[in-house]
Amino acid sequence: MEHGKCENCDGQLTGRVDKRFCDDQCRSNYHNRNKRKSERVIAAVNRQIRKNRSILHRFCPNGKATVRKERLLDAGFSFQYFSSIYQQGKLAYYFSYEYGFAPIVEQSHSEGRPIEKVLIIQYQEHMKGKFDPWKY
Ligand SMILES: [Zn+2]
Repeated sequence: MEHGKCENCDGQLTGRVDKRFCDDQCRSNYHNRNKRKSERVIAAVNRQIRKNRSILHRFCPNGKATVRKERLLDAGFSFQYFSSIYQQGKLAYYFSYEYGFAPIVEQSHSEGRPIEKVLIIQYQEHMKGKFDPWKY
């Protein structure tokens, strides 16, 4: 009796109807490949957060700094990825490990327009475990 195809090698399956693979070899190849795929995703996100951390560290060597958004983007920063969040009133700080930034807008008098900047800070003990996603 024939039914379905092996999810690993696309070979025709025979035998039990609920079979997904030819044999144990195909089963383990399939699961190894998928594991590698998810590990690649995790590694890529971790790489970006590490990169973000080193950029924030570079721009904020002394605990606190204000930098234009473009300067971080030019350095390869991604605002999409972060490892934790700390909310203080209306301001959210997005952390890459122990360095965090909050988006702010400052009015520039010389340029006559609002400028998007980031306020960079270092992690402090009092920020630990304070975030409640249902509160905001
Ligand atoms: Zn197979």
